[in-house]
Amino acid sequence: MNVELILGRELMPLYEKLLHGERLSFEDGLLLYTTPNLTGVGYLANIVRERLNGNYAYYIRNQHINYTNICNKGCKFCSFYAQKGGSKPYTLTMDEVRERLVAYKHIPITEVHIVGGVNPRLPYEYYLGLVRTVKEVRPDVHIKAFTAVEWEEIARVARKPLEEVLVEMKEAGLGSVPGGGIEVLSDRIHAEQFPKKIDGKRWKEIARTIAQAGLHQYATLLYGIGETIEERVDHFVQLRELQDETRHFLAMTPLSFHPEGTQLAHLPHPTGDDDLRNIAVARLMLDNFPHIKSFWIMNTPAITQVALWYGADDVDGTVHEYEIVYQDDAPGVRQQVLTRRELIRLIREAGREPVERDSLYQIVHSPGDEPEPQRKMLKVIA
Ligand code: SF4
Repeated sequence: MNVELILGRELMPLYEKLLHGERLSFEDGLLLYTTPNLTGVGYLANIVRERLNGNYAYYIRNQHINYTNICNKGCKFCSFYAQKGGSKPYTLTMDEVRERLVAYKHIPITEVHIVGGVNPRLPYEYYLGLVRTVKEVRPDVHIKAFTAVEWEEIARVARKPLEEVLVEMKEAGLGSVPGGGIEVLSDRIHAEQFPKKIDGKRWKEIARTIAQAGLHQYATLLYGIGETIEERVDHFVQLRELQDETRHFLAMTPLSFHPEGTQLAHLPHPTGDDDLRNIAVARLMLDNFPHIKSFWIMNTPAITQVALWYGADDVDGTVHEYEIVYQDDAPGVRQQVLTRRELIRLIREAGREPVERDSLYQIVHSPGDEPEPQRKMLKVIA
């Protein structure tokens, strides 16, 4: 294969750097965002992706619990929190949490993912109760819970240092911490779009505390909310430096912004080019992150299949009961699920080898164990 034909003279120096294991610079990141040669960017990202993860494409069987949509932060990009004319406010009781867990008890999920709004009326015991309730109903699952902004709130209502709170939560059953809590590490975007939330400096302090507590964490980038490409590249560079220091991040998930129902509804939806390019640039800039995820709910299953050749090695999971963003805003669509068979088909059809993982990327089912999927169309269950 003539690599120069794919990459052109513009991207060849980056290819040379990758061959020699050299780290890409901030300027390289800008070039990856501005070149019209998206295929070349994907080709480069795929080199790193296959070097780190071979032909594997990971998925997980997981359930999401979004415990409240009441939130005092009012982030402009968010359509999840309860507002006048929007969704009704709710906070799940422990009985309701238990019911949701019991409803999926027949499915051998390995992870429960808990996130919600910042509801100032919730006491510390509520958060501890969430984690304990999951462990009561499903003692074997891994609990991934609370973004950095929620951890700030939990420590505030607990009136304890975050270090102590994390120890108590670990004792209750916490396993790791999801990404989110900062959309892009930019003071400008923070001031314009989510000024009531923690800023980038605090987000990084919290990430360090999580690492010191011996917990793994995930990272995200929300793109399409008015950030510049310089701010995106800077986000990656800051995360890369933090990971050099802590080594506790397991994966990066670039998240495609859904403007519907937000204060930024006038902004265009990110395109397929945006979705693939952000995944590819993440893979190339974050050379110390083991995994890059294409979250099918945000990117669609179709883009996720292509993304498996643009740097992504993970499609996330079956995702029972995710309520933050809906793929289809049609009335009546209340659940978004891909079954295990559908995920396997999605991955196999894209030419990758499906591997079921747990939250820490340990293999639950190796490629040879995966059942043959039924030939049927992917669907979002209404
Ligand atoms: S993104 Fe999170 S913190 Fe911001 S308004 Fe939505 S729920 Fe609240």
